Amino acid sequence: MPTQNQSQALFARAKRHIPGGVNSPVRAFRNVDGDPFFVDHAKGSHIRDVDGNDLIDYVGTWGPAILGHSPEVVVEAVREAALDGLSFGISNPREVEMADLICDWVPSVEKVRMVNSGTEATMSALRLARGYTGRDQIIKFEGCYHGHVDSMLVAAGSGALTHGKPDSAGVPKAFADTTICLPFNDCQALEDVFTSNGDSIAAIILEPIPANAGLIFPQDGFLQFLRDLTQKHGALLIFDEVMTGFRVAKGGVQEHFGITPDLTALGKVIGGGLPVGAFGGRADIMDQLAPDGPVYQAGTLSGNPLAMAAGLAQLHELERINAWEQLEQLGALFEKGVRENLAKIGKNYSFNRIGSMFCLFFTEDPISNLDDAKTADLDTFKKYFASCLEQGVYFAPSQFETGFISTAHTEADINTTAEVTAKALANLP
Ligand SMILES: *Cc1c(COP(=O)(O)O)cnc(C)c1O
Repeated sequence: MPTQNQSQALFARAKRHIPGGVNSPVRAFRNVDGDPFFVDHAKGSHIRDVDGNDLIDYVGTWGPAILGHSPEVVVEAVREAALDGLSFGISNPREVEMADLICDWVPSVEKVRMVNSGTEATMSALRLARGYTGRDQIIKFEGCYHGHVDSMLVAAGSGALTHGKPDSAGVPKAFADTTICLPFNDCQALEDVFTSNGDSIAAIILEPIPANAGLIFPQDGFLQFLRDLTQKHGALLIFDEVMTGFRVAKGGVQEHFGITPDLTALGKVIGGGLPVGAFGGRADIMDQLAPDGPVYQAGTLSGNPLAMAAGLAQLHELERINAWEQLEQLGALFEKGVRENLAKIGKNYSFNRIGSMFCLFFTEDPISNLDDAKTADLDTFKKYFASCLEQGVYFAPSQFETGFISTAHTEADINTTAEVTAKALANLP
C-alpha cells in the first residue's frame, strides 16, 4: 500500500499494552511477514484504513459481513434496539424471535440457546454431548477449527489410535487425552477408532465443509458415513456451522447435503457483526441443559437485545433479497476470473469454491485434508497476498483461510479483482 504511516504508528503503540499488538493472533499478519493495517471505516465491499488506503475486502470480518460492511438495515435495527436499552440480563422478545427463526431455517435444530461467540457455542455443545451421553471422548479432525476451546486445541498424536497432544501451551494433557484427532475424509481411521473405543466416544465434531485450513470439501458420502457411524455407536454428530451457517445455504451445509446432525454450532453471520453464537439441535438433547437438566451453561450477555436485533435484521434481509442465489452468481464470476488467470500463467493451482466461499491453494495437488493443504507453497502465497494488497485488494493474510464474497460486492469489484490478481500471478517467481 502507498503509505502506512498511521497504521505503523498505531501498531507500535498497540504493542505496548496489547500482547502482540492484537486481540486475535491472525490480525498480526505474521503469516505474510507484513505489518497489519488499522481500519478507519468499512462500508459495503470496501475497507478504508487509517492512512486513507481503500481496499476491496474479501475477509468480511472473517464471515459475518455477508451483506457487506455496515448494511443500512442492520445499522438501523441496532440503533432502534439501543434506544430501548443495551442489556437487560433478563429475557427480551427478540430472543424468542431469533430462536423461532433458527429452528425454522436450520433443519436439525428443534431448540437453541444463544451465546456470545463461536467458541462458546462449540464449547457448550461439547459439554452437552458429554453430559447427554455420559461419555468423555470427542473425535475431531485435523484442520478443523472450533474456536479456542481447551480440548479442541489439540493436534494429532503419533500412531493411528493415540490421543491428541496439546497444540497450545496451557492446555492440560488430561484435556487433550479426551480428544482423538483424525485426518478429514478418512473413513478407515474412523472405523478403527470406533471398533476399539466406540462406547467411550461422546461425539464427532466437524466443520462439514472445513474452512479454516483453506477450503476443503467432504468426499461423496463422507458426511452420511459419519451420520451412520455415530448412530450405530450411540455417539452424537456435531456440525460446527459457525462459518458455513446461513452462508452456504439458508439452512447451512446440513441443508445443502441433506444430513441431519444431532447438534449444531452457529456464529458469525448470525450476529450481523455483533458478538453472537448459538448452539442447538434435538429437543431431547437440548433439554439436558440447566435449568431443565443437569448440564450447566449460562451467559450474562447471552441473547443481548442489540445482538439479536442485528442478527435478525441481517437474516431477514438475506431472505428478502434471496442472497444465496446472488452470492452464487458473484462467486461463479469470481471463479471464472481465477481460472482464466491460472490458464494464462499455465498453472493448475487448486481452487475450491462453494457459493461465496473460496480458496486458491498454491499447489497443484487436489485438497482433501490438512496434509494436502500443507503442500501449498507459502512463500508464493505471501508474494501473491502482498501484491494484491499493494493494488488495493485485501485477501485473508494466511494461505489457510477462506475468502468471502458479500452481496455488496459488485461485478465491477470482481472484475477489478480479476485484473489485480492477474497481475499478482504474472509477477510470481
Ligand atoms: C470462527 C469459528 C469458530 C470460533 O468462533 P469465535 O466467534 O471466533 O469464537 C468456531 N468454529 C468455526 C468453524 C469458526 O470458523
